[in-house]
Amino acid sequence: GQSSGGAAGARFDLEKETELRFEVEAGERVQLELLSGLAEVFGSELNRNKKYTFGPGSKIAVFTWQGCSLSLSGKTEVAYVSKDTPMLLYLNTHAALEQMRRQAERDNERGPRVMVVGPTDVGKSTVCRLLLNYAVRLGRRPTLVELDVGQSSVSVPGTMSALYIERPADVEEGFSVQAPLVFHFGSTTPGTNIKLYNKLTSCLAEVFSQRCEVNRKASVGGCIINTCGWVKGSGYQALVHCASAFQVDVVLVLDQERLYNELKRDLPHFVRVVLLPKSGGVVERSKDCRRETRDDKIREYFYGFRGASFYPHAFDVRFSDVRIYKIGAPSIPDSCLPLGMSQDDTQLKLVPVSPGRDLTHHVLSVSCVDDETEGGESRSRGILESPVCGFIVVTAVDTQAQVMTVLAPAPRPLPRHTLLIMDIRFIDLK
Ligand code: ADP
Repeated sequence: GQSSGGAAGARFDLEKETELRFEVEAGERVQLELLSGLAEVFGSELNRNKKYTFGPGSKIAVFTWQGCSLSLSGKTEVAYVSKDTPMLLYLNTHAALEQMRRQAERDNERGPRVMVVGPTDVGKSTVCRLLLNYAVRLGRRPTLVELDVGQSSVSVPGTMSALYIERPADVEEGFSVQAPLVFHFGSTTPGTNIKLYNKLTSCLAEVFSQRCEVNRKASVGGCIINTCGWVKGSGYQALVHCASAFQVDVVLVLDQERLYNELKRDLPHFVRVVLLPKSGGVVERSKDCRRETRDDKIREYFYGFRGASFYPHAFDVRFSDVRIYKIGAPSIPDSCLPLGMSQDDTQLKLVPVSPGRDLTHHVLSVSCVDDETEGGESRSRGILESPVCGFIVVTAVDTQAQVMTVLAPAPRPLPRHTLLIMDIRFIDLK
């Protein structure tokens, strides 16, 4: 039950296998403290008598397997204890995956490759985080593959990435992103360029498989793939493509029986497709809320968590010093395509962008591609399939002087000169 504790905050005593759910009000902060017992936030254990701070809009569940007392201070939109959670089912899922890892270890095979699917706002990212945390707490080294281009937990929106997990997620900040492998997609929905989306999925699968060949721990750890909430039409086809590219062994379907049945029908019989309920605590997010989260993610890239750790740099870049591309030419009617060219080719085409005022506020990826490789077909393939080494935002364009001002995480010069433009814009209000 809850008892008001004045300045010290409200106290909640939780029975075993229950969770405290709360949402932080806009513009507010909330402090959480574990007073006694054991508790975890999405699979990360809380330390006793340490104050954890959650920022505006955070939606948190503090779960306890054994029972605990918590103190919560600050303005919450809601705060209540629920006994009705699917955590036991999620734990069983983890246990089954761990069994597969043990078997893989024994038989010198690879560990489970798991794809988590479902519509938006069913807790896909949360389930991924939970399973990764439980695995890494047992000493495993799973890989998070982030394919949600709208709400990436690893990098800025518009990217697809992989992150080797070596320690549990920080309760406040999430997984530490020291050296993620990141590819440029360029927009917040796969539908913008499904061909590119599928291609980058294949790239990530290939890099992951290569890593598994040389790193036994990575191979046994397997991967947890987070996907987009778009589960119809081409979105569905993208899930089927992903399952095949990664040769997944397990698919966890959250909340949607129709999707579960479709995947059971369309995936090879040896793939285990499992239907799991969503947690009643998962909160639906509005369009605005999603946009805010995306903005936060970009701000965090430049300024660090809570805007306190990094100091970005602003400097001028001469047009002549960079090459800017957009991936995918606008689609043209089939009848107008040059002989021997298909729509697919146009989606993967690199289109040079001449810098103009409309570049202002756009996020650009800095490609890792070797700047020396010049021209031609092979170069364009190289750029598509190269990871990115960072991001910049164009803050101003001076067409007269032929320079643009950019916000960058490091001082000049840019590490590379091949830039890829995103649909995504960021206005730096700092
Ligand atoms: P999806 O990846 O399916 O879009 P998320 O995993 O991002 O969904 O969850 C949506 C939101 O709900 C997130 O803000 C997350 O922190 C919150 N959330 C997830 N599980 C719970 C829970 N049990 N109680 C309260 N909030 C939760």
